[in-house]
Amino acid sequence: MQKVKEHSHTLNEELEEHKKNSLILAEKLEQSQAQALVDPLTNVLNRSAYNLKMVQLTHEFKRYNEEWALLMLDIDRFKKFNDDFGHKLGDKVLKSVAGTVRDTIRVSDQIFRYGGEEFVVILGRINAKTATQLAEKICRQVEKDYFVDGDKKFQVTISIGGAIISKDDTEMSLFERADKAMYRAKNNGRNQVVMAL
Ligand code: GH3
Ligand code: MG
Ligand code: MG
Repeated sequence: MQKVKEHSHTLNEELEEHKKNSLILAEKLEQSQAQALVDPLTNVLNRSAYNLKMVQLTHEFKRYNEEWALLMLDIDRFKKFNDDFGHKLGDKVLKSVAGTVRDTIRVSDQIFRYGGEEFVVILGRINAKTATQLAEKICRQVEKDYFVDGDKKFQVTISIGGAIISKDDTEMSLFERADKAMYRAKNNGRNQVVMAL
């Protein structure tokens, strides 16, 4: 009897230990799942997070019909910036631009690093007029910002293309309209906003 009791006590202890371990593992899993959606350089959401969000939002639009906008942001002449001042400073600029955009949009809106020097901003529950105003505000804020390295001051500009979701849109077609609008902003002289029709 005594032996059985001892054995069951040990089993209980082992069980408790396993429970503790699996809690720690679950926490770690959650952390790494969250990390998998964040861009390590700029700390904003990454391309995978963007893909997930787009699928969710296009579905929701079909159900609830609430308008939202996609802005495509691209840093102007960034290759030249890297060539002139080096990639390390280029990386600082990427971080700084991402931070500026995040501070300019509403907390319910989201910024994603789409790739390289390109970001996507998703504005929820917004119409074309307000989306244009907000894109303009982002553009002017980035233009105004400067950052310091030693005794040098740097400034960059961005071009923005925007599009409002419509009922025939897929994730891809909405993105393409915003991207095309962004290229029109580049061709018109950069540092400006163009909204897709
Ligand atoms: P445009 O005004 O037409 O957009 O010109 P651009 O030079 O910005 O465009 P291009 O596509 O020719 O070059 C993009 C550059 O962005 C190339 C690369 O040097 C830089 N870039 C992309 N990703 C990173 C990054 O993670 N860090 C740094 N420092 N630079 C990056
Ligand atoms: Mg680009
Ligand atoms: Mg660029």
